[in-house]
Amino acid sequence: MGGPGSGRTGGMLTDKCEDYRPVDLAWLKRTGILDSWAWATISWSHGGEVHSSIQVRREHSGVRFRYRTRKPGDEWQDVNELMPFAYTHTNYGGHRRWFECLPCGRNCRILYGGTYYRCRTCWGLRYESQYEPAWARPISKAQKIRDRLGGSLSLADPFPEKPKGMHWRTYDRLKRQDDHLTSRWAAMTMDWIGKFSG
Ligand SMILES: [Zn+2]
Repeated sequence: MGGPGSGRTGGMLTDKCEDYRPVDLAWLKRTGILDSWAWATISWSHGGEVHSSIQVRREHSGVRFRYRTRKPGDEWQDVNELMPFAYTHTNYGGHRRWFECLPCGRNCRILYGGTYYRCRTCWGLRYESQYEPAWARPISKAQKIRDRLGGSLSLADPFPEKPKGMHWRTYDRLKRQDDHLTSRWAAMTMDWIGKFSG
């Protein structure tokens, strides 16, 4: 499998969805992987064929990622990295959990796999429409909703507050659309093929 630096300029910026392997912390939570503390395999498929997979396991301070990777012409390399959790406080006295990107320390909800798992900023990943792969379209739609609400475009940030003057009914509808779009994005790109101990 090719990763960043495998001959393509611009990191992972490509319209081939098989080149992206995002891991979404919210998805790990939804599937129960975060609560199981056992190794789980996540695979990515394209056209019905699995093209890559990794193993992940919840640990106290983060999620361990284990996989083999190879740049074209190089030997296979075993990667075993702990992606640490970071926590921020919410307005309601709770906390929100994030991945902390290893090289840059940014909090993010989604890590993108190439040779290593890093945040979108580290890869220079953009969602410009001319480069937009099919899997990213739900993200763009969700970003438009967030833009309309005057919030951050990052799906890693909480859904924006209701702007003054907007009807609650409109706001709730946009929030439901946002939920639907982010779930659809995760479903399109990730597939949980099973848990095993070890
Ligand atoms: Zn980063």
